[in-house]
Amino acid sequence: NIGQEGDLPGVLENDAEGIGLFRSEFLYLRKNDYPTEEDLFEAYKEGAQAMGQRKLIIRTLDIGADKRVGYFNLPEEENPALGFRAIRICLARPEIFYTQLRAILRASHYGRIRVLFPMVNSVGELRQAVSQLELAKQELEAESIPFDRDINVGAMIEIPSAALTVNMLAKHVDFFSIGTNDLIQYTLAIDRNDDAVSHLYDPTHPAVLYLIWHTIKTAHKAGVPVSVCGEMAGDARLTRLLLGMGLRKFSMPPANLLAVKRAVLDTHLDRIAPVVSKILRTQDEMKIHDYLTQLNEMPAAAVASAG
Ligand code: PEP
Ligand code: MG
Repeated sequence: NIGQEGDLPGVLENDAEGIGLFRSEFLYLRKNDYPTEEDLFEAYKEGAQAMGQRKLIIRTLDIGADKRVGYFNLPEEENPALGFRAIRICLARPEIFYTQLRAILRASHYGRIRVLFPMVNSVGELRQAVSQLELAKQELEAESIPFDRDINVGAMIEIPSAALTVNMLAKHVDFFSIGTNDLIQYTLAIDRNDDAVSHLYDPTHPAVLYLIWHTIKTAHKAGVPVSVCGEMAGDARLTRLLLGMGLRKFSMPPANLLAVKRAVLDTHLDRIAPVVSKILRTQDEMKIHDYLTQLNEMPAAAVASAG
């Protein structure tokens, strides 16, 4: 996961397979006015070229809620997390969205770019976003500007409604990425930035685990790859649990990569399965933390010797 160009070297130094989440807000947050298509294109192209053959998943603008940008003139809201943010703004202000989509498409000619829509809530919303992308493609084609015609499109699963309808969304995307930061906030009705309730923000709450498990299982059944790009994926204490739930793609800040890789290498899937199953089935949520400790204390898998 990266949130600015300066994070790129860390991705390569830690030998990530790609960038699972390029938070594109920074290009807007650092300016006093809307960035131009050219500004965005240059930044995305630089990222794509730096990554070479590795994937670069650019998430479209996720402004609003805690990420305020003055010149967007967003309305004052009583409940910003439930208000005008991310794809909702992009669909309501197509000129902003369109500029970004054109820039992403143009940059796709220079690397392996994927596009990811945040805060998707329904099939209708996803279809609208995809049709904006199609329009941008048609326009570039008419202008004879090169781009990747088969650019993969993904949706973030970070609202419970999306997690519960993942089978429907699956027909419209090439991949999913689970944003556990928001998924936890919206499932538990706990503001992720409110210190007064932060002790209640629990990634292993049974409802959260159920939605993650359901999303992974349903996506795989539909043949759609799924990753987790929320902070849970970068927490090595949760690696075995996520592996046991079927997750095979983890996206995290570069600094967490080696610890999570270590945890993956130290895990024997067959051996952890019974404990993961207990975690997912327990009727007593207080026991989850004990089971998690048990899971993490299981001996490391014998690493197969080369040759
Ligand atoms: C998430 O919600 O998990 C996520 C990755 O998005 P962000 O943290 O940028 O809202
Ligand atoms: Mg999010």
